[in-house]
Amino acid sequence: MADPAITLKHIRDRCRIVDDCWIWAQCTVGRYGRVRVGARTYYAHRLAQEIHTGKPIPRGMDVRRCPDHERCVNPEHTQIGSRKATVKAMRERGSLSAGVRHSISVTVPRRARAVLTLEKVREIRRLWVEGKKPREIAPIFGVDVTNVRKIVRGDAWRDGVWHG
Ligand SMILES: [Zn+2]
Repeated sequence: MADPAITLKHIRDRCRIVDDCWIWAQCTVGRYGRVRVGARTYYAHRLAQEIHTGKPIPRGMDVRRCPDHERCVNPEHTQIGSRKATVKAMRERGSLSAGVRHSISVTVPRRARAVLTLEKVREIRRLWVEGKKPREIAPIFGVDVTNVRKIVRGDAWRDGVWHG
């Protein structure tokens, strides 16, 4: 169970709020937001759900992602369910693998490939979290605005490599 000193506000403060979604804007490992509390690390969406319900997520249960944003951690958008139910829901949505976004085809100009380091990608995300628009960010880095959008959505750049 999570530290009771951590509140939903702590989590919300680490997100960019888009409509009603809380888009996790900090450390992620793969597709999942991670949050450190003392010596422990939690998945942000699971931690939010635990704080929301006030009890630990039962063993073997999943926290199903928000249908609008995969990085949304708003506990009112995520749902506790059995793994079986998660698979069923995904099938109904036509995406058995939640990782389908990995295979989205991204057109990356040769130039962008050369100039974008992981550090710059982080900087792009940081500016976006601060509220800068992709079309304002793109010229700073000399890349196409569609690539900036893909980076902030997490489509194009994962684990330090382009998935184009
Ligand atoms: Zn949401």
